[in-house]
Amino acid sequence: RQHTPLRIDVDAEQRVKLSSNPEHAPRQWPLDPYSTPSQHYATLQRWAASGDIEELLNTLKSAGLRGMGGAGFPTGVKWEACRAADRAVRAVICNADESEPGTFKDRVILAELPHLVIEGMLLAAWVTGAREGIIYLRHEYEPERERLEAALREARDRGLLGPGHPTGFDIRVFVSPGGYILGEETALLEALEDRRGEPRNKPPFPVSRGLGGEPTLINNVETLAACVGILHHGADWWREQGRGQAAGLKLLAVSGDVERPDVYCVPMGTTARELLALAGGVQGGKPLLAFFPGGASTNPLPAGRLDTPMDWDSLREAGSALGSGAVTFVAEGRDLLDLVLAQTRFFRNESCGKCVPCRVGTQKAVALVESAIAGDPVDGLPELLRQLNGTLARTSICGLGQVALAPLVALMQHFPQQHWQALATGEAG
Ligand code: NAD
Ligand code: SF4
Repeated sequence: RQHTPLRIDVDAEQRVKLSSNPEHAPRQWPLDPYSTPSQHYATLQRWAASGDIEELLNTLKSAGLRGMGGAGFPTGVKWEACRAADRAVRAVICNADESEPGTFKDRVILAELPHLVIEGMLLAAWVTGAREGIIYLRHEYEPERERLEAALREARDRGLLGPGHPTGFDIRVFVSPGGYILGEETALLEALEDRRGEPRNKPPFPVSRGLGGEPTLINNVETLAACVGILHHGADWWREQGRGQAAGLKLLAVSGDVERPDVYCVPMGTTARELLALAGGVQGGKPLLAFFPGGASTNPLPAGRLDTPMDWDSLREAGSALGSGAVTFVAEGRDLLDLVLAQTRFFRNESCGKCVPCRVGTQKAVALVESAIAGDPVDGLPELLRQLNGTLARTSICGLGQVALAPLVALMQHFPQQHWQALATGEAG
């Protein structure tokens, strides 16, 4: 078989460059409403002075901000639900454990806009009355941890956190013990409670039963940062940033076969073609084969779908998803089956094993595809994979199992037979 492996991530060296290259930092992000550091926290102070929590929630809801971790749940609705919980709110948690292969947008926000994330958490704490704040950080993000700790000290010095805060509210950084599944919001809660990091059944959702069984607000890094701009400029501003029906701005981590892998902030609804052009086009001027619009757990789309707008609804209609904002472009000449199989192995390896269909099904799928590639396919393998995917989607309790096999099935739907032929025939792809 043709074998040209592709890293669906920027490598360690590129990551360091993204975090520390003076050409990249500091850049003025459209997400950031402030032009000087002295202006930080002005939005929080203005809203706290107004005391109008209802108006704040209405602003978030009418802006149409949706959770940027990948699921797109309406942020204003989540904040409101947490505020309305039947007992006092325990914590606001910033989920900074991005681990989807190819995803590195939150890392750049943490490095370059830490005060925006802290201000978003302070606004959330004010709305919900949360007693504590936690930034749950990916364990490899050491440079970002240092940047965050420095920003937290600055906020304390300004009397915004800790003893200077009206309720003593403070934020601590908790470094994730490590592992993809520990970024799933309920596995994250288990880890914070010093238990094995396995997802819980939902509902109840964390807004009503979270840390220690108490209501807890969990938001992604980008979501919290975006709240500040919206609450500064207003809901109309956010909606106007998007294209067509899509609202707002989106940070997308672009990697794969492109000239300039990086994080780009674009209007929601920017087409994949425009994004590819921003990233300098396909490396070496090769033709494009495919792209993954939202991380390894989103279905690959063929090059013919490059004019798809990158927004929640358009990508869903195209048979994929915006997901975690990790866009990977794949040039002609790559072996798509090999690439998707590598992703499936990743999900198999990262499955926590709590649900039998996920634990056994991911292993079974990998073994079946590997033996087909080795020239020994079972009869009706494509149909078997479809059925296995359906079982996992229905019976797994968290997103990992629900989508682990979907890209394999999408490969058979969207791509010419040569990219998955081995599944059926055992012949070279
Ligand atoms: P989900 O749909 O179960 O929930 C999304 C959010 O909305 C959660 O915070 C949940 O608590 C909340 N929610 C849902 N229904 C609610 C309700 N009725 N009331 C109150 N709150 C409610 O999705 P999920 O399992 O949390 O996340 C899946 C997504 O995570 C996937 O789409 C994937 O793209 C993304 N993901 C991201 C990464 C990454 O590194 N950023 C990694 C893996 C997966
Ligand atoms: Fe664990 Fe998989 Fe079940 Fe998620 S679906 S809880 S990763 S076994």
